[in-house]
Amino acid sequence: MKYHSWYPNKCYESHRLTIHYSPLTIHHMNYYSLNNQSPKVNFAQAAVKGQAPDKGLYFPENVPALPKDFIQRIRSLSKEEIGVTVMKPYVGESIPGEVLQGIVAETVNFDFPLVQVDENAYALELFHGPTLAFKDVGARFMSRCLGYFNRDSDKHTTVLVATSGDTGGAVANGFLGVEGVDVVILYPSGKVSPVQELQLTTLGQNIAAVEVAGSFDDCQAMVKQAFMDADLNSKLQLTSANSINVARWLPQQLYYFYAYQQWQHEQPPVICVPSGNFGNICAGILAYVSGLPVKHFIAACNTNDVVPRFLQTGDYEPKPAVATISNAMDVGNPSNFVRIMELFHQQLGDIKSILTSYSISDAATKATISEVYKKHRYTLDPHGAVGYYALHKYLADNNEKGIFLETAHPVKFPETVEESTGSKIEFPHSVQYLLGKQKESVLMEPSFGRLKEWLMAR
Ligand SMILES: *Cc1c(COP(=O)(O)O)cnc(C)c1O
Repeated sequence: MKYHSWYPNKCYESHRLTIHYSPLTIHHMNYYSLNNQSPKVNFAQAAVKGQAPDKGLYFPENVPALPKDFIQRIRSLSKEEIGVTVMKPYVGESIPGEVLQGIVAETVNFDFPLVQVDENAYALELFHGPTLAFKDVGARFMSRCLGYFNRDSDKHTTVLVATSGDTGGAVANGFLGVEGVDVVILYPSGKVSPVQELQLTTLGQNIAAVEVAGSFDDCQAMVKQAFMDADLNSKLQLTSANSINVARWLPQQLYYFYAYQQWQHEQPPVICVPSGNFGNICAGILAYVSGLPVKHFIAACNTNDVVPRFLQTGDYEPKPAVATISNAMDVGNPSNFVRIMELFHQQLGDIKSILTSYSISDAATKATISEVYKKHRYTLDPHGAVGYYALHKYLADNNEKGIFLETAHPVKFPETVEESTGSKIEFPHSVQYLLGKQKESVLMEPSFGRLKEWLMAR
């Protein structure tokens, strides 16, 4: 067996994950349920189902290794070439090559600039897509995949999704006008920002917004119950667009390749990811396991500190979500953390050797926005600020340079940002059209019974 020189071969002592050494010969990729009680499926089935019948998350049977010279050549490759190379083995035979190429090209048709903020920290700006947050990539990829899988079907698919802020807008935008697909978005009332709310409640057409008088966790619980409900599933072909869906989760790997493509230092970067449901960072770690050079990962959390605590104590204790100013990360029981556990075969020691996690308070987040604006004239959004702070916390003890993901545009959180910088944020052109629009939503108690009644009556 040959390992690439940069290969983190430590991760590969298990029976469970095997590596393919010649990605060109992969035609088939199976996904198994992390609860191990459901049959294996291919990419298309996993994307259409969202979650396995045994409630487990789907996980790829193999982590494909990158082509041998891919990393050396990465600077000469286009975003589309990188996208197709990375995604092809995961998609397997579910999507023909030329279709995949088209899907990838549409998914990544905006910029992912790496911007230096201070001597040691760089922002990977992931907010240049249509809804101004990183979730556009996953949502665009997934909507186009489902559109393709649905191409000959006369059966309607209903995408049911809970959002803590940004998912809703990205998914709504990705699916707007897609034939044969209805989208129902559940969001916690009063807990998303005005721009976020407009993005998910004003589109109309095949998009409906349910405003839940509760928390994001309530929304997520209602969605999870819907997938388990026999009546609903016999009436509707339900699928999830949350980051548990492999078609949303896996393309998030691309950010990390685009970051590395722009990285000018010899040592691989430390990468800090503002985290809530842990889908994004888990995709980054997957990219690393398949061969992307990364020095270390940092999961930057707000007050919702289940994972930082787990890494410290070894006890995983989900808690109700606490509302913070970085609301897209207000998650008390991150769905994707089980995937990180699986990648490292539940070995806490192995996870800790590549991943550190910090919990950052709202006060520190605001102070960071203020200080970075004053010192460096860079405007952080609250999520990016959590990332910037956590990155520096790590760099203080480690002589490295790093990247934090700027996961949303600051205009999505104008109150916090303007209060901290003392300066007004300009509305980007792309969202000005939202300002005069009328919100349309269905207000609902946080009860699955109510949701079911409403869905059955539609
Ligand atoms: C969704 C979101 C996050 C958290 O991402 P996860 O994949 O759920 O960890 C962070 N920042 C912003 C702006 C988001 O929208």
